[in-house]
Amino acid sequence: MPIVRVALDVPLPTLFDYSVNAETSLDVGQRVIVPFGRKQVLGVAMEWAEHSGLALGRIKAVAQVLDDVPPLPQEMLTLLRFCSDYYHYPVGSTVLSALPTRLRAVEPITLKQSLAYTLSAAGKVLDMTTLPKRRVVQQRILQALRQAPMSGAQLRSLSPSAPAALKLLLEAGWVECVARKGGPLLNPLPLAGEEANVKSHCFNEAHALTIEQQRAVDVVTQQTGYGCFLLHGITGSGKTEIYVHLMHEMLQRGGQVLLLVPEINLTPQLENYFRSRFPDVELASLHSGLADGERAQNWLKAQSGEARIVLGTRLAVFTPLPQLALILVDEEHDPSFKQQDGLRYSARDVAIFRASQRGVPIVLGSATPSLESWYNAQSGRYRLLKLTQRAVQPATLPTVRCMDISNLPLQEGLSEPLLAAIAARLQRKEQSLIFINRRGYAPVLMCTACGWLSECKHCAGKLVLHLNDRTLRCHHCGFQQRVPHACPTCGDADLKPVGIGTQRLEETLQSRFPEARILRVDRDSTRNKGAWNAMRKKIHDGEADILIGTQMLAKGHDFPNLTLVGVISPDGALYSADFRASEKLFAQLTQVGGRAGRADKAGEVIVQTAFPNHPLFQALRAHDYEIWAQTLLAERQMAGFPPFVYQALLSAEGKQESDAYNFLKQARSAAQGLQMPVEVYGVVPAAMPRRANHHRAQLLVQSNKRKTLQEFLRAWKPILDALPAGKLRWVLDVDPMEF
Ligand code: ADP
Ligand code: ZN
Ligand code: ZN
Repeated sequence: MPIVRVALDVPLPTLFDYSVNAETSLDVGQRVIVPFGRKQVLGVAMEWAEHSGLALGRIKAVAQVLDDVPPLPQEMLTLLRFCSDYYHYPVGSTVLSALPTRLRAVEPITLKQSLAYTLSAAGKVLDMTTLPKRRVVQQRILQALRQAPMSGAQLRSLSPSAPAALKLLLEAGWVECVARKGGPLLNPLPLAGEEANVKSHCFNEAHALTIEQQRAVDVVTQQTGYGCFLLHGITGSGKTEIYVHLMHEMLQRGGQVLLLVPEINLTPQLENYFRSRFPDVELASLHSGLADGERAQNWLKAQSGEARIVLGTRLAVFTPLPQLALILVDEEHDPSFKQQDGLRYSARDVAIFRASQRGVPIVLGSATPSLESWYNAQSGRYRLLKLTQRAVQPATLPTVRCMDISNLPLQEGLSEPLLAAIAARLQRKEQSLIFINRRGYAPVLMCTACGWLSECKHCAGKLVLHLNDRTLRCHHCGFQQRVPHACPTCGDADLKPVGIGTQRLEETLQSRFPEARILRVDRDSTRNKGAWNAMRKKIHDGEADILIGTQMLAKGHDFPNLTLVGVISPDGALYSADFRASEKLFAQLTQVGGRAGRADKAGEVIVQTAFPNHPLFQALRAHDYEIWAQTLLAERQMAGFPPFVYQALLSAEGKQESDAYNFLKQARSAAQGLQMPVEVYGVVPAAMPRRANHHRAQLLVQSNKRKTLQEFLRAWKPILDALPAGKLRWVLDVDPMEF
């Protein structure tokens, strides 16, 4: 009897053997339902087995094969196995976590049939000249449908008011809706030397490319097979335009393109932008904000080849794409590409592996590349493509000024020069953005009599004061309580907020500029669905004068009337224990500074710092990422940090402090016992040593060779799995970003 190995979502590093009845037809990559313990669970058939280690009588049979969707292609199975090996995460959980939720359920999914619109018999004979002239959109739709039936998405791309016009046309009986016939087109990519199967699509060419842009496009399109390109372009240099042109070229060749973007950037805006450039191209987006059904639907459109462009956040890297021709990773340095729980993968790194596996080019774009990528470009592993000019002619980079706050009086955190600069913008009816990476009113509440500080009783952190609902809240565990009327220790009533958060800044600026329209953008003010979109619209429509925001505001938004960016208290990151903190700060400040003066108005950035001569600020003023990267690389090399070494972090947390430490100490002696050429550090407390009543500690292992570290992890992981852990939680994080 044939035996199939099945991936199941269980925390064991193995596949599970099941027998397949002679009459059952099953392909590798199909979802199956199998008995496991007393339950029926969903799995994925990974491979056929010659024989099983289990006694024949103990092998159970596959209960059901789901043939509702096509099997996962071999390429995906290989990619997922690679991830499981590399991140040392159970293979079954890896495979299952890559599937959309709907496809993980034990029942088959029912697909919405795709619908198409065509002219009805009456519509075909309609004399269009009899339609009133002002019904432009209706006419445009009728014209388009004379050529070919169209999907709803294609029609919507004709005009924003297409849905309304379509409704009228349906009511008039000129257009009808039918189930789309036949499957999607599946044309394999031409092999090298074969004539390209040219597909035409509509492409709205917005700009003639600059010389630098054209060169970058040429280099990538001339690449045959795998190649990794680092596109380093200052903010506003037209990286997006390059993506669009590359997409156009790959679509013409019959390929599919995958564009990965950081979490926060994926807004309907971005999707609409690409739709407007390719009005008749099927585009599918994939991110965690979609409803389960929609996500499954889009995933399947990608798998069938119907969706030509796939736009998504990190999880989209696991989408099957039969004609994948190019991968783009925008803002490749963004930490949100690294998943922080479950399978702790870096979508950027997985994307690079995938591109090499498929033999297609990949472009990593950023104004401030990660040091890892920069180092690879320096050493020649990646090819560097540079954009040194802003694309729009009059737009130049903002001037950056550092205010030395060590000898400037501050009013509630704001210096006089910054306030004056804001006042000048108000007068000129331009917008200002004040960037502060701390939400809430103040980071802590203090008793002036005895020095009591508001601390979380469950964590090693402070409770943040939120004045609008008078609560103290822990940003680590979510605990919250009412603001006390008096000090819990000495009873004194004089409790003072210490430090500044977004809410306090809003209050200060409002009292200083009573007539200004102030908009605060942070996780609290944008919690409700749609709130952020509404705010963005306000900003665009000029209904806000001063924006106060955390990093949410820093990314990828184009606000043409914004000419001033103020940065409050960035200094914490300069001397942080996290060795990546200053790299992140430079990226954030470059990005937030890039918001200023994008159109025809000059921009200005004012940074309040006690260390104006720090190399970070010098590089920021000179807009010189390269010098900054060089400085950081030298530091990292001296200190023996990535990208010069490869790391893995073992963290443990438990209710008892000793449990976590004992576990890690045993893990450490096991590591040393292996006598392999890796550095094993001591067991130390985590950056947040106690969170939600759990004590947290960690153990770092590193090597200057990726391969050596991997060999070590392969030997170490089974030992860790066998250590008695009790109620303790532990995780192994390969290439960790957070400590
Ligand atoms: P980036 O992604 O590098 O920050 P964008 O692609 O958003 O830059 O481009 C910045 C601005 O420049 C956009 O408004 C875009 O429309 C415009 N732009 C891009 N390329 C060109 C070009 N070749 N000619 C004129 N304008 C351009
Ligand atoms: Zn007190
Ligand atoms: Zn807490």
